Amino acid sequence: MKISSLFSQNKTVLSFEVFPPKKDSPVETVYRTLDELAGLNPAFISVTYSAGGTGGAEESTINLASYVKNTLKVETAAHLTCINSGFSDIEKTLKNLSEHGIENILALRGDRNPDTPTKDDFHYASDLVSFIKKQNYNFGIAGACCPEGHPESENLIADIRNLKKKADAGAEFLVSQMFFDNTKFYDFLEKLNLADITVPVTAGIMPVTNKRQFERMIMLSGASLPSKFTRAVARFENNPEALADAGIAYAIDQIVDLMSNGAAGIHLYTMNKPVLARKITESIRSLL
Ligand code: FAD
Repeated sequence: MKISSLFSQNKTVLSFEVFPPKKDSPVETVYRTLDELAGLNPAFISVTYSAGGTGGAEESTINLASYVKNTLKVETAAHLTCINSGFSDIEKTLKNLSEHGIENILALRGDRNPDTPTKDDFHYASDLVSFIKKQNYNFGIAGACCPEGHPESENLIADIRNLKKKADAGAEFLVSQMFFDNTKFYDFLEKLNLADITVPVTAGIMPVTNKRQFERMIMLSGASLPSKFTRAVARFENNPEALADAGIAYAIDQIVDLMSNGAAGIHLYTMNKPVLARKITESIRSLL
């Protein structure tokens, strides 16, 4: 099933994101995580992709996405990046995805990383979207978006102009980067509307539950941090249990506000911690 069809059902589409385990972590843990996440009845689970990572990066994304789709019978989207790949690499991956029965792809450019050489065939995610559309498959395609602008963009308007190219190329819905200030997301939706980008946008929510995650993930993403959020982190940073509770409560508060304002979807960055997804999902179940 194409995930994009879910957005016409007038219900908030709840999805989870997981990442394949690091090379030295046991793969069984992530399968247990997926089992637990599937039990929460999400509309879909997406699996990230790590280009140029340790060997078998593509296989691990495809294997996990295949497990979600074929064993757990939950819809899935496999993430796929392109700047480190040539046309033939992507052709092989698409064939592999199709053979595993995976029907949806989150098409991404990927981050520039000095350790992983780029190739010349794809420059932007929209190139990948166009390429997938031209192949003889019928994948549902999503793209990423940044409510506060991509860090490499001159400004938000320039980024939205580029986003329009991605939507016009065939991205059927957009999944947002994490944000902590809902007003930024609402402003962004308004600008998309003005730019005639009409595809649904699902809101990326990350529950921040420990100080290290706060420092690494949040600072790197460049997302604005409302004082309500930073005050909680400052107050509870040395009390892990309290910080986790505050982070979950903050995410729930954000989600309730988004759903009250008719958000098309909520995409939860689960950090492979099913307990977080469970606490949040249970709190909003009646709203879905
Ligand atoms: P693009 O849409 O190509 O945009 C990148 C930059 O190029 C932007 O500044 C944009 O304005 C500009 N641009 C786009 N098109 C044009 C054009 N035609 N001309 C000029 N400029 C243009 N990374 C991974 O490695 N693996 C993952 O699994 C992964 N999953 C992600 C999931 C989500 C929901 C998000 C939000 C990000 C994810 N990322 C992942 C990170 C992503 O790869 C980075 O954010 C990357 O820097 C940009 O990817 P993009 O697809 O948004 O790129």
